[in-house]
Amino acid sequence: MNKNADRWKAVCDRDTSQNGVFIYGVKTTGIYCLPSCSSRQAKRENVDFYETTKQAEKAGFRACKRCLPDQFGASPQVDLIRKACEDLQNLETPPDLDSLAKAADLSPAHFQKVFKKIVGLSPKRYAMAVRKQRFLQGLNLSDSVTNAIYDAGYVSSSRAYADMTRGGVSPKSRQNGAKGEGIRFASAHSDLGDIIIGATARGICLVEFVQKGEGEELLRSRFPLADLKPADADLAVQAAQIVAQINHPTEGQNLPLDIRGTVFQERVWQALRDIPLGKTVSYGELATAIGQPTAARAVASAIAKNSLAVVVPCHRVVRGSGELSGYKWGVDLKQALLDLEKTTKKPAT
Ligand SMILES: [Zn+2]
Repeated sequence: MNKNADRWKAVCDRDTSQNGVFIYGVKTTGIYCLPSCSSRQAKRENVDFYETTKQAEKAGFRACKRCLPDQFGASPQVDLIRKACEDLQNLETPPDLDSLAKAADLSPAHFQKVFKKIVGLSPKRYAMAVRKQRFLQGLNLSDSVTNAIYDAGYVSSSRAYADMTRGGVSPKSRQNGAKGEGIRFASAHSDLGDIIIGATARGICLVEFVQKGEGEELLRSRFPLADLKPADADLAVQAAQIVAQINHPTEGQNLPLDIRGTVFQERVWQALRDIPLGKTVSYGELATAIGQPTAARAVASAIAKNSLAVVVPCHRVVRGSGELSGYKWGVDLKQALLDLEKTTKKPAT
């Protein structure tokens, strides 16, 4: 038998001994999994095999949120929790907290805490999500719809945890108010009001409209424990570019950004950046643009979490009726930004 035939058999058998040996991507869903993943069996012709998560990601696949293939072997805790998730997925009667904790050799309280940290949901809510998913699969919905439900928050992103193991700013550091992280900041005046800009070593992490003189205070409240430093020359130049972009709207500036969110939020924010200057779209259209037409509400809440005003142009999203709806920095400002974009002539090329 050839290698791929063996691998396919391992996938069909959900062979846990092959975890870490290879992973497989499912072309119809764009997701890659461990051999043991309990997700619905894919068709052979839709499956590609990879040796490493890097290869799968390079080919355009995202890590499955059930089997967390990108975290395999990352820590014994993750493996314990993965096992618990498998039990919750596979057993007819999902085990209760006590038996899950016992299997992991942890106290129920500790188990609950670790589970929540890694999965993003309590075991009880995870079990509810599994039930819901079974129900939906019973309705024979497409995988993309089922995945939309996962992405809409029933099973939260594994990304937050992945970031922790990859280096960079960990979710914990975020929770701690970016403790010890160096954030440079610049205040600037635009035609539409004062802005505050924050940047880490990776790029711009915050652009917000503020009342005069309140920028530093706002930055401090967003990153209470960060090591705030005044702008250097690079950031000063970037701040000027952002002010120019507000005053004389132009297509993307290609500034280095340090965007931080869940996988779902980042997909929404990326889609925002793809809306052309001077155009508006509805929440529903944006949900469709990211391939999840049923997720308009989740899209709206991801937009509300955007902390890069104008640079990630969330002001270009309006109600289906064309009404403006809300804006984090005030509806008047949203109107002003849109008016300015409509009246600004595109530079001749
Ligand atoms: Zn999976």
